[in-house]
Amino acid sequence: MRAFEYVSPTRKEQVATLLGGNGAILAGGTDLLALMKDDVVSPARLVNIKQLSSLRGISYQPGNGLRIGALTTIAELADATRDLAMYPALLEAANEAASPQIRNLATIGGNMCQRPRCWYFRNGMGLMPTAPDGKSMVVEGDNRYAAILGNFGPAYFVSPSTLAPVLIAYGAKIRLYAANGSGSGVRELPLENFFIIPRMTNGLEHDLKPGEMVIEIVVPPPAQNLRAATYEVRQRAAFDWPLVQACVALEMDGNTVKSARVVLGQVAPIPWRALGSEQALAGNRVTPETVAEAAKAAVARARPLSHNKYKIALTKVAIRRAILSAQSAGSGGAA
Ligand SMILES: Cc1cc2nc3c(=O)[nH]c(=O)nc-3n(C[C@H](O)[C@H](O)[C@H](O)COP(=O)(O)OP(=O)(O)OC[C@H]3O[C@@H](n4cnc5c(N)ncnc54)[C@H](O)[C@@H]3O)c2cc1C
Repeated sequence: MRAFEYVSPTRKEQVATLLGGNGAILAGGTDLLALMKDDVVSPARLVNIKQLSSLRGISYQPGNGLRIGALTTIAELADATRDLAMYPALLEAANEAASPQIRNLATIGGNMCQRPRCWYFRNGMGLMPTAPDGKSMVVEGDNRYAAILGNFGPAYFVSPSTLAPVLIAYGAKIRLYAANGSGSGVRELPLENFFIIPRMTNGLEHDLKPGEMVIEIVVPPPAQNLRAATYEVRQRAAFDWPLVQACVALEMDGNTVKSARVVLGQVAPIPWRALGSEQALAGNRVTPETVAEAAKAAVARARPLSHNKYKIALTKVAIRRAILSAQSAGSGGAA
């Protein structure tokens, strides 16, 4: 590992200045330190944010919903959502992510900002690896885990977080903070807008401006008739990322779906809103036909590569199972 400076500020106002041009925020370190050891990234300074008490804590308020401080660990998130019993899909995703040891260290802020698991990227070839002949190494090479959706540009990696798709299905917002020469401020945006598909080799997959950090995620109170679930298709029961994930949040009106949010993970460079599936469900009863229609609509525009066509079938299965699981789970909504 290359030499680096280490600082541990106690006020969030100090972070942007300390980051300077080539610093990196250190939270649980479960992703960043691995990337540094592999020399994929080499920040000149690590800014440890774990002394910032205002980024800690997880709490629920009936009017405002669930506030998850950026330093909340995945284990703490699982404990809190288990006690609350209002966000069953979030609890499930938190329980499934990584291993107990990693869940004890990994923070929700770091989870949103973790870098893609693409083999080419992890081997130092960049997010959009290109061969000397100008062709994409992913398209020409081993693309079995690559994107099948949102791959219209040069990005073929998949967004790694399994918590982000669930949070987006619940309509979460992310709050970012930066202090710089012109002052300090909080920027709030729908979590789905935080993830972007980069078009340039040096582009990032998050809308994090220089000096900004994640301070919290806010999940609105679930509607009384909201039924949500996540379904992960895994190669095996182990602490690895799933091959495909589908998250659904169905607002029911009796037996009819009033509105639906369907978000896919591990299929695109961002958590992918399956708008076609949402339209297929809205205004309809959950029947085998509508479920099949929703599954089909999700992959209507998929562009599989040479080795990942199997993800189309898995996506349809994941959507079907997530919908059926949401339907049988009952309402986790606010009473
Ligand atoms: C074996 C293994 C299995 C895993 N399985 C899963 C899985 O199934 N699902 C899943 O979602 N994840 C999985 N992960 C990833 C894990 O959840 C992330 O590594 C972790 O959440 C990152 O959080 P951290 O606090 O350790 O971040 P760090 O490693 O400290 O940071 C990660 C990145 O985020 C940045 N960062 C951290 N905090 C902030 C902040 N507040 N504001 C701005 N930038 C910030 C850092 O600069 C860095 O770029 C797995 C990891 C491992 C090693």
